Amino acid sequence: MALIMRPGTSMGSLGGRLVLATLSFCLVFTLLMIVVSTLSAWKTGVAAMTSELMQIEQVYQGTLSKSIWEMDRESLQTHLSSAAKVSAVGQVTLKITSTNRAPETLVSTNAGWSASSWAPTRRLALTYEPYPGASETVGELTLYGDERVLWARLRGEVSTIVATQIIQSLLLAGLIMLMFTRLVTVHVQRIASHLGQLAPSNLGHTLVLNRKKLHHDELTLLVTGVNELQDSLADYLAKQERSERELAKHRDRLAELVQDRTAELEALAAAQKVVLTLSNRIIHAPLAEIDHYNFECLRDIAMRLNASDAVWYVIDPGGNEYRAFLEWHASTTAAPKTGGFSVDGWSRLLATLAQNNLVTFPSQAALAAAVTPDESAPFAALGLEATAFAMLRGADEQFGFLVFGKRMEVPQWRSDELALLAMTSQMLLQSARHKAQLVDISEAHRALQTANTRLENLARTDPLTGLPNRRHFDEFKDNEFWRSKRSGQPLALLICDIDFFKGYNDTYGQAQGDQCLCAVAGALRSSLRRAGDMVARIGGEEFAVLLPATIKEPALTLAESYRKAVADLAIPHSASSVAAYVTISIGLAVLDLEGADDFDALFRQADQALYRAKAGGRNRVAYAVPMKDILDEQCTS
Ligand code: GH3
Ligand code: MG
Ligand code: MG
Repeated sequence: MALIMRPGTSMGSLGGRLVLATLSFCLVFTLLMIVVSTLSAWKTGVAAMTSELMQIEQVYQGTLSKSIWEMDRESLQTHLSSAAKVSAVGQVTLKITSTNRAPETLVSTNAGWSASSWAPTRRLALTYEPYPGASETVGELTLYGDERVLWARLRGEVSTIVATQIIQSLLLAGLIMLMFTRLVTVHVQRIASHLGQLAPSNLGHTLVLNRKKLHHDELTLLVTGVNELQDSLADYLAKQERSERELAKHRDRLAELVQDRTAELEALAAAQKVVLTLSNRIIHAPLAEIDHYNFECLRDIAMRLNASDAVWYVIDPGGNEYRAFLEWHASTTAAPKTGGFSVDGWSRLLATLAQNNLVTFPSQAALAAAVTPDESAPFAALGLEATAFAMLRGADEQFGFLVFGKRMEVPQWRSDELALLAMTSQMLLQSARHKAQLVDISEAHRALQTANTRLENLARTDPLTGLPNRRHFDEFKDNEFWRSKRSGQPLALLICDIDFFKGYNDTYGQAQGDQCLCAVAGALRSSLRRAGDMVARIGGEEFAVLLPATIKEPALTLAESYRKAVADLAIPHSASSVAAYVTISIGLAVLDLEGADDFDALFRQADQALYRAKAGGRNRVAYAVPMKDILDEQCTS
């Protein structure tokens, strides 16, 4: 029996307690009854004794009266003794009265008797009638009851009462115990056992008590209550089980949703990363490589979407036709036709795209239902089932649209795929804008560069002769000077000056002078032999020629060829005193690698040599005497 008991408590019995209570009550009741019965028995005993004494009175009244009258003492004694022997009598006293004698008292006493106020006493005047009508008092009989007899009788009575009461109490307790056990305890134990064995699985087992007759009492109420409780509990458990099953179903569904959402978010995060990488690549790509990266982007995104084909359509400059600008196909076996669709032919598709920048179709049938057969035909020809279109356009820009296609139907495009498509279209839109800006920038840059070059050329070119000017020469000579110093290569410098040019101007005029300058410049330029050689106009009618990696002898030869080239122009010069035509004088110096610290020293030498050429008669070449030679000459003279 699965009764639950608290530790430290012992199992008691209701019946036992009931019996104990009954016995206690019976004990008190018995005691009370004994007291009452004893008092009653005492009274009855006293009454009985009084009655006995009265009977003795009646028995001995006549004989004693006669014996007194007759003065029969012996008889008197006999009667008194006989009366005293009766058990109820303790003592008999006979007082004899006589008119002529002193009263005499006869006493007969039971052995051990003592006077008591408890026992009754009877006094009777004895009269004798010697003849009818003549009654005379002859004595007085006194009967004293024996108290011991009263007590003995009372003891007997009390023991009977006690025994009766005890037996009665025990029988009552036993009967109550038996009835209680049969009527209550057995059933309570049965209920307790039933309740103890209750489990969710046997809540359907109804509690039935094994009772012979159908009673309607507290136990019936209890059983009904237990059964109703079981029914409610079973209902409650069933409801709870249903709720738990529902809850578990919801929980599973929620877990699935969370899992799906997590997977989508992870896919989205990965896609974002990819888009970021691709977009970084595009942004930092030079103009020439942007389309290459755009293609890679198209391909990577298509692969990530599990798409088999991706095409970026752009409208042609005429605005009549869409053509595939970039396209990627997973399978290259069949070359699909993806270009050259007229704008009018795709009007419905384009109208749909104009409303929603991103439009997806889970199947070919869905696409066919949304656009005209002609419009869906190119995609069907590609073998595409699921398709996604994304418009690439801004407020005033139109960069075409993207198509990603799968060769199998899908229930629907997933949200992470849609997000990826949206990101991709945004990225490629930005890429297209970026490219357009780069094109603009590079065109502007080219124009600027041309302008700059022109400006720079202007700034570094002598406008009259078109030769490098003094500024250009100064930049060039410094470079060449330090290159020679570093490489140890020689550097020759020629300074050419037109002879009597002032006179030329004066004779032929300024304009003619300018023409002459141009002609001389042309002759000098044409005489240059190597790419690194340079001629510049460094003054009014002064020209400098730099000849890198040229030592004295070849420099002298070249200088001579320049002089000759000018002379060969045969420009008439009537004001010249050295020739009838325009001539030049040339001063030549070659860099002293060990001596010169800057170009100016070389220039001074060349200028000095020019002076010597002029002084020497003009129309000639003079070589600068190295500084140490001049010093040596000065020392020897
Ligand atoms: P020398 O033989 O000693 O060099 O005599 P020169 O007359 O050539 O020398 P000078 O330095 O006295 O005269 C140079 C002249 O060159 C003075 C100037 O009128 C002329 N000249 C300088 N620049 C230009 C120019 O751009 N155009 C023209 N037409 N003449 C110029
Ligand atoms: Mg000059
Ligand atoms: Mg001159």
